[in-house]
Amino acid sequence: MQKLEELYTGKAKSVFRTDDPDRFIMVFRNDTSAFDGKKVAQLERKGMVNNRFNAFIMEKLAAAGIPTHFERVLSDNEALVKKLEMLPLECVVRNYAAGSICRRYGLEEGMVLNPPTFELFLKSDALGDPMCNEYHVHSFGWATEEQIARMKELTFRINDVLQPLFLAGNMLLVDYKLEFGLFNGELMLGDEFSPDGCRIWDKDTREKLDKDRFRQDLGNVVEAYEEVGRRLGVSFA
Ligand code: ADP
Ligand code: UDP
Repeated sequence: MQKLEELYTGKAKSVFRTDDPDRFIMVFRNDTSAFDGKKVAQLERKGMVNNRFNAFIMEKLAAAGIPTHFERVLSDNEALVKKLEMLPLECVVRNYAAGSICRRYGLEEGMVLNPPTFELFLKSDALGDPMCNEYHVHSFGWATEEQIARMKELTFRINDVLQPLFLAGNMLLVDYKLEFGLFNGELMLGDEFSPDGCRIWDKDTREKLDKDRFRQDLGNVVEAYEEVGRRLGVSFA
């Protein structure tokens, strides 16, 4: 597999073309950003940790029958993935209230959301990722009704796989963001699943073990990500 030119530099990852027209290489960088890119930092080891973490989760999901873009880890910081036509959406699942939902609706952090809530956001840095509903997505042509239904179905199946996995490590999977794309017309999970895109709390102490450590200047960010991985059984280099 030959790595060709860089096609896209995101806030935390870069995407490279390969000699296979259907495959991209995703590079997990040490860059970290929050608040729409207003707060940035370099965190040593984060790229490697997120790459290994993501591979572990993607493999668990694939084993449970969830279609994903993930193919294999290529190096500490690189993964081979299917080239997807990404839908411009972020699907957020919330099992407990935290972050923007508390600010928006005045909910107390930690409130159990039963059933879990599903939200859609337009992926647009320029517009600040505005929340949108299914009618917006459909009417504005961002995805078809069928694709919306499939994203919801896969999202809740993913929740059914991941919630017990984290619970077995004495952790609460509070919320997370997923991105989907199309490969030969088939909708599948793309992007990444790592502590950069979710909230994870220790079940007993409610200690934050995710990117909120960076957002809120709590320190030991990558150490917390590794702790989550260790509890799940991820092996890091
Ligand atoms: P952002 O774009 O939010 O700054 P990243 O730094 O994570 O995010 O960049 C990764 C980019 O690659 C994202 O825009 C994501 O939608 C895109 N992407 C993820 N998986 C794939 C894939 N399989 N094929 C094409 N693009 C992908
Ligand atoms: N999230 C993400 N990328 C985004 C927006 C949100 O990964 O662009 C994740 C975030 O880490 C959290 C969940 O989605 O796990 C819900 O985020 P929320 O809407 O509460 O936003 P925040 O409080 O982070 O602004």
